[in-house]
Amino acid sequence: MQLLTADHVFLDRRFAPGCAVLIGDDGRIAGVGPVAELEMLPEAAGATRRDFPGHALLPGCINSHTHSFQVLLRGNGDNARNFRDWVDGHLYPLVERLDERAIAAAALLAYAEMALSGTTTVGEFFYVHHGRNGSGGGNRHAEAVIDSARRLGIRIALLRTMYDLGSKPGQASFRESVDDAAANTRALHEACAGDDLVAVRPAPHSLHGASEPMIRAAAEIAGEIGAPFHIHLAEQEGDLPFALEKYGVSPLRALDRMGALSELTAIVHGIWLDEGERQLLADRGGALVYNPLTNMALGDGVARIPDLLKRGVSVALGTDANNRLNLFDEMRAVEYLQRVTALEMGIVPGAAPASRGSALPLFELGSQCGARALGIESGRLEPGLWGDVIAISLDDPSLWPGAFTGGDDLLNAVVYSMVAQTAVRHSWVAGRPLVVDGRLANLTLDEIREELERALA
Ligand SMILES: [Zn+2]
Repeated sequence: MQLLTADHVFLDRRFAPGCAVLIGDDGRIAGVGPVAELEMLPEAAGATRRDFPGHALLPGCINSHTHSFQVLLRGNGDNARNFRDWVDGHLYPLVERLDERAIAAAALLAYAEMALSGTTTVGEFFYVHHGRNGSGGGNRHAEAVIDSARRLGIRIALLRTMYDLGSKPGQASFRESVDDAAANTRALHEACAGDDLVAVRPAPHSLHGASEPMIRAAAEIAGEIGAPFHIHLAEQEGDLPFALEKYGVSPLRALDRMGALSELTAIVHGIWLDEGERQLLADRGGALVYNPLTNMALGDGVARIPDLLKRGVSVALGTDANNRLNLFDEMRAVEYLQRVTALEMGIVPGAAPASRGSALPLFELGSQCGARALGIESGRLEPGLWGDVIAISLDDPSLWPGAFTGGDDLLNAVVYSMVAQTAVRHSWVAGRPLVVDGRLANLTLDEIREELERALA
């Protein structure tokens, strides 16, 4: 049992002074509130008290969509001519060079950067099941990625991709039969069932990567385990004619016709949904995972986030293929990208219920909405949820002067100006240290660099 105190604690959707978080030995939050009240609780007797003066405590960020191996495209992916050239000329050639060691080392690098900028849960949409020289097959690569997360101590939801279409050489690394993909996904889910820090979810890749039987199989598994499945949908304008030709309807309607659109569906991107589809997503209770910086980088377009929020769709955030793996950057980009086309400000907060005119909705997209999209019990500082917490230093100048007063000024500074890589000083996952004094608790960056260099040699 440990009692974490700080100058400000984010609870009940705002920063409050003089409060603390009590985390049980089971890794779950046992209480939040004023320090004196928590200390009176019988379960707090004997708790180790840790004071963080000059800090604020928040729920850790939840990065709901990433492909960690794509961190290896740094230095070699940004001068593509268009999305197709990026995929065919950069992404697939990289995939053909990968093996288990490179996949594991890339995950270490990506997750380390996420951890150091305040992420405590990663949603890894993983699809490179086969690799160079016969590496991988079955769940070996997925398990290597999970192992990297375990070594760092970060929580992972492994979105195990199910992919059976495509004839390009790079796609051979992804493909499995429907039966194999379903069996492997179930087996991985079962193998990780006893690990509090690991969740496994089905992820049919997309309409162009997964056949209708594959998508149905994924939806069936999601129903069995009572957790969401993830699918890329309507990312590029060309996804519309593809769906029309193959299914006779637009992408989300195609999913709905398959019986694969429900409260267990999380669609990734959703940029090219028409108005009827946006209402359909709301009506069916599905979630959306949004990746604004990647959408900018790949020239995908601008999703109608304010409209989706107004209709009641839960929107989570991911770094996807972005070179920088910092979820606070994504929160800010959600709003800024809307401003480019709306020619107004305050658009996302204005569209979200109960925003109090602050950056609160943006912060919640990157925290509690991520927990919903991944089906994990985290994202808020609330009794019963996992003790996934970050401590930011109020001495970091990127938080000044908002840090002087706390409250909404501090929250606005966290979302709109904080340099997370320097401000995030500590973090815990299920109460266990992930970041200590601005460094990884369980590995060093030198060790990660050595592994990466060896793997890529
Ligand atoms: Zn993606």
